[in-house]
Amino acid sequence: MSDEIVVRSPYDGAEVGRVPKHGREDVDRAVATAARALAEQPLPPWRRAEILDAAARLLADRAEEFARTIARESAKPIKTARTEAARAVSTFTFAAAEARRLTGEMVPVDAAQVGEGRLAFTLRVPIGVVAAISPFNFPLNLVAHKLAPAIAAGCPVVLKPASQTPLTAVALADLLVGECGLPADYLHVVTGAGGEVGAALVEHSDVAYVTFTGSSEVGWGIAAKAGRKKVALELGNNSPVIIEADGDWTQAARTITTAGFSHAGQSCVSVQRIYVAAPVADDFTALLAGLVDELVVGDPMEEATDVSALISTGERDRVASWIDEAVAGGAKIAAGGGMEAGVLRPTVLTGVTPDMRVSREEVFGPVVAIQAYDSLDEALRLADDTRYGLQAGIFTASLSSALRAARELRFGTVLVNEVPTWRADQMPYGGVRESGNTKEGPTYAVRQMTEERLVVIKP
Ligand code: NAD
Repeated sequence: MSDEIVVRSPYDGAEVGRVPKHGREDVDRAVATAARALAEQPLPPWRRAEILDAAARLLADRAEEFARTIARESAKPIKTARTEAARAVSTFTFAAAEARRLTGEMVPVDAAQVGEGRLAFTLRVPIGVVAAISPFNFPLNLVAHKLAPAIAAGCPVVLKPASQTPLTAVALADLLVGECGLPADYLHVVTGAGGEVGAALVEHSDVAYVTFTGSSEVGWGIAAKAGRKKVALELGNNSPVIIEADGDWTQAARTITTAGFSHAGQSCVSVQRIYVAAPVADDFTALLAGLVDELVVGDPMEEATDVSALISTGERDRVASWIDEAVAGGAKIAAGGGMEAGVLRPTVLTGVTPDMRVSREEVFGPVVAIQAYDSLDEALRLADDTRYGLQAGIFTASLSSALRAARELRFGTVLVNEVPTWRADQMPYGGVRESGNTKEGPTYAVRQMTEERLVVIKP
């Protein structure tokens, strides 16, 4: 049917559900209703907090149901999908706290003679209608990172979820409106092609704020078209991790076995580039390759599965071709390579060079690329030699090496003795360079979704 989008499992092509195929007129209607809701029925902070608390509670109760929807529509292995559902509970919990403590500040205007006798303070008021555009790789928690702060800020939202994974978003919206007390006019889900409904939202004159998570290419294109709207971008990365000889490289190998291959590497902070000190490079590679070979490839609904299908066969073929290109350029496959039941096997490459696409671009697939180095200077230079800048990591026992990495790596976050994949949902998360222009996390997003209005009182 032309007015529906059929959502299929990327693993076996089975139909998982259907959503409407919306167009520009649906976007217009949603934005108009949202704008009217803000003008006519503002949400007081106590109600925002109660809605968010209810969402956290009900999501926790239904975590398994949500995890199964995530796994079906995105092929994220069920055990990884459960972690995502648990994280979304925490995102709503932190947003509820923000709704309760959202304050402006006193402004000491009487510190200048002109202000003597006057009282001044700021109010935080909702910025207006929020347009939220989300990617396929975290169908629940990255939608939560947009809806929860918008509710805490008192903003109505029009959400455009990824076309491949709209069912989880629709289920979350149903929960918020149907069971948590969010007025229906405060949340609209428009499902359809990014280039059509997404673009219509970005261009709409009554949208005040666009919050986008997705690829750098689409994100910066949106910023160019958004005119005077505020635009928050959370974009791609090709995450580096440095492993010093004095660092706990066995622990690093164990963590990377998850951090490089969770959801088949389809995370913006999946470990991709591994720089390992030459004296420990062979031992580290052997350990990592052995662990990666043990990962279970297959059906996302099976409890044992660690790695399942990429979001589309087109993506699978693209990633496979980048592996082939690296091998043709002299890289070696230490683990994986090839397919298993139509799924790209988790792959460890060694001997890569900085010009290969597996080093230069964002792979967004189950591939890590190892390069050995001789000095920390060289490792820092290689890790920083990228147009991205979301998160980077270093494993070292040396405080001075850790501090050098923190000072010299131009990323939004530098993690010490941890993989760059690590994230807590309340932290300020966001990149620099082509990786973005903002910080997400309820505290930071709520502030951006409100405006400070200065009130000056002359008694
Ligand atoms: P994508 O950029 O292809 O799509 C993201 C969203 O934008 C989708 O909803 C899509 O329909 C929509 N869209 C596409 N074209 C549009 C247009 N012209 N106007 C408006 N909207 C449009 O990204 P994806 O493939 O869904 O997700 C993968 C990317 O997301 C990766 O690059 C990954 O690194 C990035 N990502 C970043 C973060 C972060 O927090 N920094 C988190 C997750 C994913």
